[in-house]
Amino acid sequence: MGRHTVNQFSAELNRRLEAIREQNLFRELRRVDSTQSSRIEINGRSLLNFSSNDYLGLADHPHLKEAAVKAVKHFGAGSGASRLICGSLGPHHELEEALAEFKQSESALAFSSGYAAAVGTICALMGKEDIVVIDKLVHASIVDAARLCGAKLRVYPHNNLNKLEDILRWADKQAPASGKEHPRKLLVTESVFSMDGDQASLAEIVALKEKYGAWLMVDEAHATGLFGEHRRGLAEQSKTSEQIEIQMGTLGKAMGASGGYVCGTKVLIEYLINRARSFIFSTAPVPAAAAAARAGVEVLRSVEGRSRCGKLWQSVHRIKQVLNQTDWQDSGSNSAIIPLILGDEGRAMEVANALRELGIFIPAVRYPTVARGEARLRLTLTASHTADELETLITHLAVISKNAKAG
Ligand SMILES: *Cc1c(COP(=O)(O)O)cnc(C)c1O
Repeated sequence: MGRHTVNQFSAELNRRLEAIREQNLFRELRRVDSTQSSRIEINGRSLLNFSSNDYLGLADHPHLKEAAVKAVKHFGAGSGASRLICGSLGPHHELEEALAEFKQSESALAFSSGYAAAVGTICALMGKEDIVVIDKLVHASIVDAARLCGAKLRVYPHNNLNKLEDILRWADKQAPASGKEHPRKLLVTESVFSMDGDQASLAEIVALKEKYGAWLMVDEAHATGLFGEHRRGLAEQSKTSEQIEIQMGTLGKAMGASGGYVCGTKVLIEYLINRARSFIFSTAPVPAAAAAARAGVEVLRSVEGRSRCGKLWQSVHRIKQVLNQTDWQDSGSNSAIIPLILGDEGRAMEVANALRELGIFIPAVRYPTVARGEARLRLTLTASHTADELETLITHLAVISKNAKAG
């Protein structure tokens, strides 16, 4: 038997990859042989890590690790089936109770990832007669969900609330499909944006969605654990939690584990259990993941969580103060994500490589994660960084700044 089509298939993929390489957009995996912390080991070298979303340094925290080990001992390594078959284990229910209490919502539902939470929820709520409105810079999971659900999709320029209002006014006038009251309108935004680190004006967005009768979904992936008196997120800080129909986020960032969640009313959660396909048709998260995430919520809510959050903000202020004295473009960031914008993809790769030679790991982020020509180093800070580590970064930032200008 010949392997003609297999060979053709490989040749075709090689051609496609070549096109990706030509645009400086080729990506490959880097094997890390250490825990997630302020230092990581790559290719036998220890690098200072300014790339992690483990904002509070909980991924390697003893309380989370012990919770995971305990869950493995008691419930095993696997979860056996989807939640609706026989996989709805104690740790999942305890996690959901902890999340609802933490977020002060009636109820919560855990998903296997934030991506699955976004896709499952949006597709459960919206159909082809409906309208989904999103900020231009929302995460890929939301864009994919908005497309997959088949609703009319409208995108407003990043944080441009005048344009958002134009769209909502238009949506409000759309004729209903036969037999329906009116098309449902769902507005989706992140509270802190993942690649720019800036914020949405939740209070104004809430006022707009109330005015035009739209539902609001807020993705707090980069805000939970960092904002608000109780670190619930930007919804808490802006006192808008009560008016947001759907709060979602990930358990894989500040929470230190992995998985996603939706918080909201009891009826929302009951509905998602019945209709969210990424929840229904997927094996339940392993018990260790659910238990670790719950332990993450516990640490986050504790006095220790408060002090970790305070330490993180001190680091953010220190780095921003230094950057303000250089000629890096101010990105408007107000979070633990500080993008150093370089523009050209090749240039961003060069600077990232130069930094790696100096022992500092800040990855270049390129299209399609950000728009073409907006490549950047995405610098993130965590509560694990020591004052000395920050000073090392600051020393090298001066070098990169010169490098960046040379391009
Ligand atoms: C990381 C992220 C997600 C996806 O969460 P995972 O748990 O990693 O799948 C969703 N939305 C935003 C804004 C994110 O940054």
